[in-house]
Formats: sequence, structure tokens, C-alpha cells
Amino acid sequence: MIAVVGSLNVDLIAQVARHPRPGETLHGRGGRMLPGGKGANQAVAAARLGGTVEMVGAVGDDAQAEVGLSGLREARVGLAAVRTVEGPTGLAVVTVAEDGENTIVVIAGANGTVGAAQVTASRELLERASIVVCQGEIPRSGIEALPALVQGRFLHNPAPVMELDEAVLRVSDPLVVNEHEAALVLAQLHSAAEAPQPPEQIVEALQGAGIASVVLTLGAEGSVVADASGIHRIPAAPVAAVDTTGAGDAFIGALAVGLARGESLPDAARFASRVGAFAATSVGAQPSYPRRGDELPELAEERG
Ligand code: ADP
Repeated sequence: MIAVVGSLNVDLIAQVARHPRPGETLHGRGGRMLPGGKGANQAVAAARLGGTVEMVGAVGDDAQAEVGLSGLREARVGLAAVRTVEGPTGLAVVTVAEDGENTIVVIAGANGTVGAAQVTASRELLERASIVVCQGEIPRSGIEALPALVQGRFLHNPAPVMELDEAVLRVSDPLVVNEHEAALVLAQLHSAAEAPQPPEQIVEALQGAGIASVVLTLGAEGSVVADASGIHRIPAAPVAAVDTTGAGDAFIGALAVGLARGESLPDAARFASRVGAFAATSVGAQPSYPRRGDELPELAEERG
């Protein structure tokens, strides 16, 4: 079983010709409310691919809660550890301008209650999980409660990066980061004053700082995996990308499924790379995720 400890949001998307200036009112289009949040996205991605997934999180006592839960329900993610708390469900207000540039305002809402007390209350579930997945959209205390409870693998995606107890970073196995997040994590671990440049050196620096395994994602360039077996370049699957929103979350959900099936980290990353590419070929996050049986794009040739 895969346990995902994290955020559940509703994304409200407005399309505008250009972004409004402060004090200005503009007409927009869209207005649809879609289920999102990194935690929910990763849980949906894993469940659609055949993983048995339980979510640990919270929604508010408002009408938006059902929207936030809809993708998880459809994917049959276990919701016994999702609490309903007083106040609003997490909300992301997204404006997309014609030039493709986004602005996003995130309101944590109920996600802000997923601290140490709630995480510890899910102890039994977390101890049973073979993989526990978490991101950075819940309070620090909730993430820092995990190392004492996790008995399987701790798949840690510190996005967005926040100040965390170094112990949490060091038990990550794997730590999954993009280049920007990697630089922030290295700074926290008091590693090299200047972030190393080639991706292989970034993962080496993270391993050198005491992290057992690392996956560095590089968008259309694929990823670099470092574990006890060495450093592996994992190619991307070449696709005509339409919208990469949530592709990173699809990658992580698939990585968890591969690891839960007993695959090595490089093999799980090869699978995840195909799933991330699939997610980039249609619009949105959860709606763009493949289901078991969908044909996935093939990886580009692997170098050396
Ligand atoms: P994030 O959004 O978290 O920065 P990335 O953009 O690195 O994450 O994407 C995660 C993974 O998804 C990549 O490692 C790659 O496997 C896949 N991916 C993302 N964008 C593309 C793309 N344009 N073409 C093919 N694969 C992609």
C-alpha cells in the first residue's frame, strides 16, 4: 500500500487576455473548479496506474471539499484518513494569460491543519505502508512527524521547499527534486557555497550530504537517479507537450507505484518518465493522467 500525506486543493482557473493591474477589473473566461493539490495529484496518479493508495490529509466544511475529493474518489483512493475540518478547503486561484504566463495564489485552508497531531493519528496506516509519499504543501510539523512513523520507503518531494529538520531530508529514500529545489535543499544542508552545475554533480552533492537516494527531474531532459547502484541518466519520452502542469506529480505517483511493485529506483524512474510525458500531452493535472492499460510513450534511447 502507498500512503500519500499531503495537500488537497481546488484549482479555480481563469483565462485572461492579460493579467489585471492592481486595482483593475477585467473579464476572464474559464471559471471551472478542478481537483488539485500536489498530494491529491500524486495519489490519483498512483491509483490510476493500479497502486493501492491511502490519502492522509484534510478538506474544509465547504462545498469545494467535494470538488477536491472528486478525483480521489474516481481513482478509488482510500479516504479514511482525510479529515473534514472547520473552514475552507485548500484553494489555488490561477490566472492564465494569452502569452501563457500564469499567476497563482494558493490558500492553504484545511491543508494547514495537517500537522504533527493529524499525521501521528494516522500512525497505524503509515506503519502499514510500503511507501510513504509527501510533499511541501502541509505544515512543517506534519512532515517532521513522518520519520518516526514510516517503516517502508520514504519518498520525499520537498515542493515547495521549506526549512526542515535535516533528519527529514536525510531519511528521504528517494528525495525527488527539480534543479531549483535541489539548490535550496543543498543550501539547507550547508553543502557547497555555490550549487554544482551538471546534474550528475548535483545528485552526488545530495548523496554526499547523507541522502541515500535521489531523483533529479529535468523536465523534457528526463531525470538523473542516484542510489547505491550508482548514477543513472534516465531519458525523457519525446512527446509534443501541450501542458506540463502536474507532470511532475504524475512522475512521482508512478515512481511510487514502480517502487511498490519491487522495481529498482532506476527502473521505477524509467516507468515514471513515460507517465510524466503522457501527462504533458493533454491539458490539466489530474485529467491528463494515464490509466492502467493506456499506451505510454516510449523513452528516447538511453545513453551509455
Ligand atoms: P517539475 O514540474 O516538478 O519541475 P519536471 O518538469 O522536471 O517536474 O517533470 C517531471 C518529469 O516529467 C520529468 O523528469 C520527465 O520525465 C517528465 N516530463 C516533464 N515535462 C516533459 C516534457 N515536456 N516531455 C517529456 N517528459 C516530460
